[in-house]
Parts: sequence; C-alpha cells; structure tokens
Amino acid sequence: MAEKSDYYQTLGVGRKATPEEIRKSYRKLARKCHPDVNPGDKNAEEKFKTLSEANDVLSDAKKRKVYDRLGYYSDAAANATAEGFPSAGGRRPVNFSGFEFNDFPAGAGEAGPTSFRDIFSNMFGREEPAEAPAEMGTDLEYQVTIGFWDAIRGTTTRLHINRFKSCGVCHGKGGTGHETICPECKGSGSGTKSMGAMRFNITCPRCRGKGRLMQACTACKGEGRRPETEQLDVRIPAGVQDGFRVRVAGKGNTGRQGTHAGDLYIITKVGAHPFFERHGDDIHCVVPITITEAAMGAKIEVPTIDQARALLKIPPGTASSQRFRLREKGVQSIKTGQRGDQYVEVRIAPPAVADERSKEILRELARLNPEDPREKIYLHTAR
Ligand SMILES: [Zn+2]
Ligand SMILES: [Zn+2]
Repeated sequence: MAEKSDYYQTLGVGRKATPEEIRKSYRKLARKCHPDVNPGDKNAEEKFKTLSEANDVLSDAKKRKVYDRLGYYSDAAANATAEGFPSAGGRRPVNFSGFEFNDFPAGAGEAGPTSFRDIFSNMFGREEPAEAPAEMGTDLEYQVTIGFWDAIRGTTTRLHINRFKSCGVCHGKGGTGHETICPECKGSGSGTKSMGAMRFNITCPRCRGKGRLMQACTACKGEGRRPETEQLDVRIPAGVQDGFRVRVAGKGNTGRQGTHAGDLYIITKVGAHPFFERHGDDIHCVVPITITEAAMGAKIEVPTIDQARALLKIPPGTASSQRFRLREKGVQSIKTGQRGDQYVEVRIAPPAVADERSKEILRELARLNPEDPREKIYLHTAR
C-alpha cells in the first residue's frame, strides 16, 4: 500500500485552492484513471480510490477545515474538533470558553481587516509558518547574550518580553457575549453575488449565515489577546553554548481568542573574555613563553577557568604557535556532564634586550648555533 498521500498533492492543487479549482482538477484526473477507462489496471484503480477520497474531504468545507488543521480527516477527529479542537501535534490543550470555533473566525467581529497580527508580527519575533492555524499560540525566540562566566556557571537573567497575552477585559474570548445584527446581510444570513448577467444566492460571508455577529471586545478588537511587555526572570543553566535554546513553557504568544500560549525560546550567545575563548565546551587561550623556555623546555603555569592554575609541560625545542591540550580543563558539558579540554597555544616572546651583556650572550649563542632556520624553505623554493 502506498503511504497516505497529501490530498492537495493528490488532486494537484495548492493549499489555497478554491472549491471550483478542486472540483475541476478532480474531474480532469478522475476521467483519466476511471476504472471504466482502464479496465483491469490495478494501479489506476488504486489511484482512482485515493482521488475520490481526497475529493470527498477537500470538496466538503467542514471536512477540509478539519483536514487542514490536523493533516488527516476522520469522523472521530471531526467530532473531537467540534467539541474542543485538538491540535496537529496534540500538545496544546485549547480553551474556548464556550465559543464555537466556526461562529467566531479569526479576525472577525467588528474590528475590520486590520488585525494585531498585521501590526505586530514584525515586532514580536518569528512566528510559526503561515500554515499553522492562526488561532493557535505561537512560539517566540529571543537571542540573549550571557556573560562568559555566567554561561559556564549558570545564572538567572531578567528579560522584558513582548508577547501576546490573553485579553484581560474579555478574558480571551474576544467578544462581549452580546450579539448584534450583521450589517452586511441585515440579519438574513444570505446575500447575492453578481457574475456578469448571473446572480447567485450566497451565504453571508461576514456572519457565515448566522445573521448575527458577536460584538467584539473593544480592548482587543475581537482578537482575544493583546500585545504586552512582560518581565521574566529566566534561569539559564550552567554550560550553555552559543546557539543553545532555553525553553520557557507557555511564555510565547497566546493564540487568538485567548487560546493556549506557545513557548518562549531563549537562544544563548556567550559573551567574550579577554583571555579565554570559548569553542563549544573547549577553552582556547594563547600563552607567551620565553625563548629559553622554548629552547630548553619548562613547566609553566597556565590560568584555567577554575580558581587554580594548571601546570603545563613545555618540551625542549617547542616552536611558536604550538598547541598543547589540558585534558578536562574546559567547560562542563550541559549534555553529558563531562568537561571539555583547554587548548593552550604558546607564542615565543622575544626578550627585550637593552644591556651590552645580554646582547653579547645572544651573539655568542648565534655563533655556537650557526644553523639557518630558513634553510628548509630555501630548499623547497629553489628553482
Ligand atoms: Zn478583549
Ligand atoms: Zn451577515
């Protein structure tokens, strides 16, 4: 059996296709793979079944609505939707406070087409793709720079989040509970539409045939939610790196009609330190060594992110930019609990020679060690 296909794909139409487009496309495709036209062709038969199934759902406005919301259709799902509106992932309970979904579409009421969503969608960070039902709460993302030490040790950070919250005036219902006569159809629930010389009777689009409109809450213009700035103290766990997501449940945008809020995600960025550099759970640093330490080897002390310094052994003949690893002197991983490493890059610092005696010693050193360090380069670049 083929996998359950997307009904829109099956019918070869876009997700915003009109009923007319769906009907036309279905007829065209059905003619092609109808069993009468393809006797004995199992493939065509199967295809015709799928096609009919897709058409059955998408040509029915109510069924299509359920399908759009859930990604599948079944009578059970349709009944559940009528009662309470299960979400696609089943993760967000919804509180409709007695409103019937169909009677109170998003953006309806007396507010007109300009919704808060239009005005504030840029201000309020990334919203979920337009495909997600507009009535659902959406997640919010905020990038926050955490200080170098705070990222290692954990902290609590105070944030001011702009988010949609349930309207306090109408308690998220969006309406006052009073109904008014629909001004579009004057209460009849239907109207007429002209196409050329033809006139059609249609259901009033404003009130969807009810003849009455819920009086919208003036505070939220019927949205059931309002943009507000909220102060939050967010706990940042120890060990966060660049790009870590800290989830704060229920602090995203509340959906229309006060439905359940999405989540807030704090995307961490780790602040800089003048000496240490953070690379994931590893720490990088650059440490100067003297020419004597480089030539003869030494044990040097290196600062670590712990209070104590660590001892690092420099072998004789160490070159500048050589890198050494201090095992498990990095940051404790937030995922595994294991510490990263510290990488120490040494740089040979030339001695600041001023007195005659030091200069004499260096000249003597050069006489005793006449090898040219550039000899190898000459060999490789000889013509
Ligand atoms: Zn309100
Ligand atoms: Zn009306």
